[in-house]
Amino acid sequence: MKKTAIITGSSRGIGRAAAVKLAHKGYRVCINYIERHDKAKEVVRELNDEGYEAIAFQADVGDRDQVYAMVEKTKDVFGPPDLLVNNAGVAGQSLFQDVTDEMWNRYFNTNLNGARNTIMAVLPDMLERKKGTIVNVSSIWGMHGASCEVTYSCTKHALIGLTRSLAMELAPSNIRVNCVAPGVIDTDMVQVLGKDVLDELALQTPLGRLGTPEDIANAICFLASEESSFITGQVLVSDGGFIG
Ligand code: NAP
Repeated sequence: MKKTAIITGSSRGIGRAAAVKLAHKGYRVCINYIERHDKAKEVVRELNDEGYEAIAFQADVGDRDQVYAMVEKTKDVFGPPDLLVNNAGVAGQSLFQDVTDEMWNRYFNTNLNGARNTIMAVLPDMLERKKGTIVNVSSIWGMHGASCEVTYSCTKHALIGLTRSLAMELAPSNIRVNCVAPGVIDTDMVQVLGKDVLDELALQTPLGRLGTPEDIANAICFLASEESSFITGQVLVSDGGFIG
């Protein structure tokens, strides 16, 4: 039987790769985005052309009303979500003393409050059905310190705390909560670093390359699948050995 998945921030990058792979694995997918209507429509069109079921929904994950509207729409079209992937995120570099309140709040609102909003919205159905899987996308900078990325690192550490604690709370209801911690992945998000820095980061990676969105999509799919049915509250690092 077909299952339903919501993947936040799936118009581009890691989220997009995860949504495509999940569709190929039999999920009906909701492609969430905030701005790039063109990219979201493109994913939906590609999936529909191949015979897979997908819809696009614009919602700022930091806005609870928009998130609830997205979950309601997904339920109407596909049925209650079996899987939620909290992938939407923002990142950037700044010295700590230059971090504005606006930046601090925006990062927390998207990277942490966004996950809280989506989980709150899908949870009533998951609790009623006594089944569900949640995969959060943190970062290796949610496990280690990152100079000039204090805000981002804080949000990603918090997401791991959310994962571990919520997993304990929801396990008796047969709902698993896990986390993927990607290393440096070749998406739009990291292009701001420039080619030279990215080449250097690839050299610093024991496996000798940057990760691809598909590498992380594979980890997400594993944590979403029955193959990980006895795993909850865990952080799966996929970084080519970067943090050792
Ligand atoms: P990306 O290429 O910049 O894509 C970001 C996605 O998130 C886009 O689909 C974007 O939508 C969406 N988004 C941003 N803010 C949103 C909001 N408020 N509400 C809804 N959607 C929003 O990023 P990525 O590299 O694929 O990263 C995906 C996740 O992996 C993030 O959580 C990131 O922190 C994490 N991560 C990435 C790396 C890396 O090296 N790339 C490493 C570790 C962890 P639009 O297209 O509409 O803008």
